[in-house]
Amino acid sequence: MNSRRELFLEEMGLTPLWRLKARETRGESEEAEIPRVSGAAVPAVSARPAPQQPEMGADDRAARIARMDWAELKATVAACTACGLRKTCTQTVFGVGDEQADWLLVGEAPGAEEDARGEPFVGQAGKLLDAMLAGIDLRRGQDVYIANVLKCRPPGNRNPEHAEVALCSPFLARQVELIRPRLILAMGRFACQTLLGTDASIASLRGRLHRYQGVPLIVTYHPAYLLRNLPDKAKAWEDLCFARRTLADLVAQA
Ligand code: URA
Repeated sequence: MNSRRELFLEEMGLTPLWRLKARETRGESEEAEIPRVSGAAVPAVSARPAPQQPEMGADDRAARIARMDWAELKATVAACTACGLRKTCTQTVFGVGDEQADWLLVGEAPGAEEDARGEPFVGQAGKLLDAMLAGIDLRRGQDVYIANVLKCRPPGNRNPEHAEVALCSPFLARQVELIRPRLILAMGRFACQTLLGTDASIASLRGRLHRYQGVPLIVTYHPAYLLRNLPDKAKAWEDLCFARRTLADLVAQA
């Protein structure tokens, strides 16, 4: 086991008995009705399906964003004042990483450190996220792109409002189309509910393969939530293993 992996397992509270711990948690709690991820079948999908375009014409702004290239999209996000958040944040946080990545990780919105540095997941939750990535042999920026639903920090880290999510979502939709990842890992309630258009809980969405614009999507807990809810780290580890296995299957089927 390499040291980045060890670091991750330590960070996740999964050493030295992470296998046993993961098994013990199954069937005991609210997760009892969650399908076991270990044997979850991955439906056959062709390699990198072209995501469907969002409905053109329904919303001129969304349709315009849906035609942008990277440069125009970045400039448009940086100049966006569509909602009130730009007035209170320091800068927009567009996203970071490999623009042709297989993996797209989606969080909620920038926090204080992200707002100051202009990069997603650079605070405490980001450190855990980096450790989680290391656990499945991934590294920020290498075959991984990280973005948020909202590009501006909500004041005081309050929850995103419905209108803010609606106005910002076309940017994320376009990022997905431009990256065309093989797999999206949606982290936390806002990312999962926004991308899947549902009010369902994370617990009820975990362990299954979903789709966003035709791209396979897996749901997991938000790293910030995991920092406060240590027992759920074992479930997040299951989700990561499911995601890694799913991606390997998708590559094999390609
Ligand atoms: N939480 C998020 O959802 N995104 C970030 O970029 C940082 C913290």
